[in-house]
Parts: sequence; C-alpha cells; structure tokens
Amino acid sequence: CALGPALLFVKTSQGKEEGRRFYACSACRDRKDCNFFQWEDEKVSETKLAAREEYNRTHQPSRTHRQNVERYKNFVLLPLAKRRFCQECQQLLLPEEWGEHSNHQLLYEISTAQLQSPSQLLYPLENKKTNAQYLFADRSCQFLLDLIIDLGFRRVLSVGTPRLHEMIQSKASKEEAFRVRSLLLDIDFRYSQFYTEDEFCHYNMFNHFFFAGEAALETCRRFLCQDSGERVIMVTDPPFGGLVEALASSFKRLMAMWKDTEKEDAVSQEMPTFWIFPYFFESRILEFFPSFTMMDYQVDYDNHALYKHGKTGRRQSPVRIFTNLTPRMIVLPVEEGYRFCAICQRYVSSGNQHCEMCNSCTSKDGRRWKHCFLCKKCVKPSWFHCNNCNCCGLPTHACEKAAAGCFVCGQAGHKRSSCPSLSRS
Ligand code: SAH
Ligand code: ZN
Ligand code: ZN
Ligand code: ZN
Ligand code: ZN
Repeated sequence: CALGPALLFVKTSQGKEEGRRFYACSACRDRKDCNFFQWEDEKVSETKLAAREEYNRTHQPSRTHRQNVERYKNFVLLPLAKRRFCQECQQLLLPEEWGEHSNHQLLYEISTAQLQSPSQLLYPLENKKTNAQYLFADRSCQFLLDLIIDLGFRRVLSVGTPRLHEMIQSKASKEEAFRVRSLLLDIDFRYSQFYTEDEFCHYNMFNHFFFAGEAALETCRRFLCQDSGERVIMVTDPPFGGLVEALASSFKRLMAMWKDTEKEDAVSQEMPTFWIFPYFFESRILEFFPSFTMMDYQVDYDNHALYKHGKTGRRQSPVRIFTNLTPRMIVLPVEEGYRFCAICQRYVSSGNQHCEMCNSCTSKDGRRWKHCFLCKKCVKPSWFHCNNCNCCGLPTHACEKAAAGCFVCGQAGHKRSSCPSLSRS
C-alpha cells in the first residue's frame, strides 16, 4: 500500500485462528486511513495492480524531501516579516505562495527558534489512530537527553521521537561544544520541511520501510557506523496501539544494521536501545527482547491528558523506558522521588518497596504493591485474593465460579478451561 509492504494477518475469534489469512496496512489500524486488503491466496489482476500503483502514486506527498530542503534554504533567507507558516496546510510558505493560502489560518514572523522546534509549530497528529503523536513534556525530554549524554552516547537514532531529535539538533546548532547528533526516522513527512536528508528519513517502523528507498537506507546505515568510536543509541517511542511484534521485527532489523557496521567487539552485543512504552506491555516486549529491563521512570507527555504529571505532583503516566543497558547505569532523578535499591541494583520509584519474598522491587505502577502468599507474588494494592478463582484480582472481577455457568456450554459446575465440550471438539 502507500505505506510500504503490508503485513500478513489472521482473523481470530476466542483465541482460535479462523482460517483465511490476509494482507492489510502495516501502520493504519483504521480502514478509513488505508483500506488496503488482500487475501493471502488471492490472485491480483493486472488491472487491480495498476489501479493500486496509481493510487499509491497519487497518495504520495506533493513535494519530495529534496524539494522541501530547497524550500527551507530559501525560507531562512527571508526577512522575519516574510516568514509565514500555513496552519491549515501545515507548511512553510514562500512569498509567491501567499495568494493560494490567503484565506487560511497563518502564523507570521516565524523565528529561528520556531524553526528549530517544528514539533511546537506543527499540530500533533493525535486524533489519527495512525500517528498517535504524543510529545514528551520538556522535563522528560531533558531527562532523556541528559541520561544519554551521561551514558556517553554521541549519536541518537530517534525512531518516532521528533521532540528528542529537535532538542538535540537545536542544542547542536547553538552550542559549539555539544557533540551529540541525531537522525530522525518518522512517518510524519511534515518534518521533511525542517530537516535535510541526513537528519530525517521518512520511515515506517511497522514494516521497516524507508520511503526514499536505498538512498535513505544508506543514510541510516552511515549514521549508525560513522566514527566508530562514538557510541550510538536507538530511542523509540512508538504509537501505543501498535503491534509489538511488528515493531520488534523492525527494531531487530535496525539493530542488525548497526551490528553489520561494527568492526570487532560488537558481535555479541545488541545496539543500546531505549524503547518507550506502557508498563503493561512488559511481558510482550520481553518476549521479543529478553535482554531488556523495564525502568521505573515515568515518562510524561505534553498533549496527553492522562499521561502527564498531575497538578498535585502525583505522577500518573504508565509509560516506561525499556532498555538493554545495565539497569544500575540508568540513574533516575532523586529529586523526583526515585531511589536506588542496592539489592535489585537499579533505581526504583519511591513507592516501590523491595519485597523480601519476591526478592525484588515489584511495583509496576509506582504505587506500593502487596505480597500475596497464596499467589506467591506481589499484586496491585487494590487487589485481593479470590478463593474461587484461586488468584488475585479486583473485588469487582467477574468471578468464574460465581458466574451462572461455563462460558462455552453454559452449564454450571465447571469453568471454561475444563469444559468437556471443548475437549470433544
Ligand atoms: N514522545 C515522542 C513522540 C512519540 S509519538 C516525542 O515527543 O518525540 C509517536 C511518534 O511516532 C510520532 O512522531 C509519529 O509521527 C511516529 N509514528 C507513528 N506511526 C509511525 C510509523 N508507522 N512509523 C514511524 N513513525 C511513526
Ligand atoms: Zn494553506
Ligand atoms: Zn512479593
Ligand atoms: Zn493471591
Ligand atoms: Zn473470583
């Protein structure tokens, strides 16, 4: 489809696969955004193929990245009074284009500072399921950058982290001594108006697709191997609705590119990575990256009502950093209440108590969890042990035995898992 190779899906119902497999868009979860659909075994006619190609051609951005770079060069030469940005079309305007946008909402006198913070100028594409653009709060972005610098990294592969990228790029342009560089990989092509082809690649992280083809792939490869003495880290903050499996597969391919470029000792290593994602995906991420650990740091966002630092100072974001770096190296800010657990050898939330039974700091959400001796693990403070279900849950959980009957056959006396009709079929 227009967003690169589609992914192969299979319909499931009640955990069972329902036969026929199909291809659909890798990135759009809403058929309204991309309606590509093809059965796995479908024969596609020449006419249909041609129509698709035509569709993909006409659904490409109207300007190339190269053209946008040229426009930018001309834009910065304009005096402040002539620098306009169209909010409706989300683009920088050159004077000869003013006419076409005369009844659009414009921003005037775009300063250099504004050009260096495109994420503030562009509106976040948050409504679209496809983009789910949630921007780091300044505090979190600054924390990430300081951490990256303290860990000795000089190159950042920013995959879906435009705000981190712009913080790095803008510092680099202002401070002579600032040596960190970033390459942004993102599906949001609006950024091509502000960055050169060495700073931004139009990229789909669900299928590892570089829209500009081999040249962009080469840019990325070069970035990963440049000055082999300088250490590279990948930082990614994908849309949370995204398929973990597809993301993991792309990240592994980026990691492989890095590995190919390293000469000696990297053979046994993995490219250092921060994968920013909600804590409830921990087991999914560890499935694909067993070397990763989840950090307690709560990542805050500007435009996400739920995921920001509450007015009361209570942190509420469920978003964490997953990393393959040694946990004790990830120093979390003591002034925000994090402390070092000497037994776990990592920084944890202030509310995260070390459990003697589990021999670990077990809280995932920052609140103090409690140990259940029957479940032999720590559980959320709001949970209690249910003797019917033989595990912990909310007091309001749909208790299996108390329910009218088995989910499968409706008869009383057994649970779905031991339903005799299931074993028969
Ligand atoms: N917190 C980050 C932004 C994360 S929002 C920051 O402040 O920098 C998710 C980002 O991923 C957005 O920039 C969005 O454009 C990008 N994105 C969404 N889908 C993508 C895809 N399929 N491939 C690449 N990038 C994608
Ligand atoms: Zn316009
Ligand atoms: Zn415990
Ligand atoms: Zn229990
Ligand atoms: Zn129960």
